[in-house]
Amino acid sequence: MHNVLRPAVEFFYKELKIKKLEKLDISFMYWWPLSEHGQTWYTKEKKTGKIEINGKLPEYSLVVTLAHEMVHLKQFSSGLLELDEEENWIWDNVNYGKTNTRTDKHYYNLPWEKEAWTLQSSLALKYYGKLIQTLNFKS
Ligand SMILES: [Zn+2]
Repeated sequence: MHNVLRPAVEFFYKELKIKKLEKLDISFMYWWPLSEHGQTWYTKEKKTGKIEINGKLPEYSLVVTLAHEMVHLKQFSSGLLELDEEENWIWDNVNYGKTNTRTDKHYYNLPWEKEAWTLQSSLALKYYGKLIQTLNFKS
């Protein structure tokens, strides 16, 4: 994991009050096109999560993407969002079908994406704000 993301993972865990998982893997995908930022996987039975992030993104963008994906992690681990065996997306017990979140023209209207897009910037700003506060500036 990029060192810069380690404290960010802990920060977003606390900030989003995510139930502690058995395991959370973060992988960097250096071969993804720049248009693809992140992807989150969750296994209900084992309580494990996996977040994939495009490794070519600039640092601030890695943090914003991590924030976005950790919102999805919270949605999954709380049971609000589910991907069933047939790959149907279920949000709050409503089946949205096999929507491909990468190509769906309604992508931004999907409730789980709406929430992630709404929270990602403020979470990242809060994280950087806290980092800056801990620095000891001398001028
Ligand atoms: Zn998303």
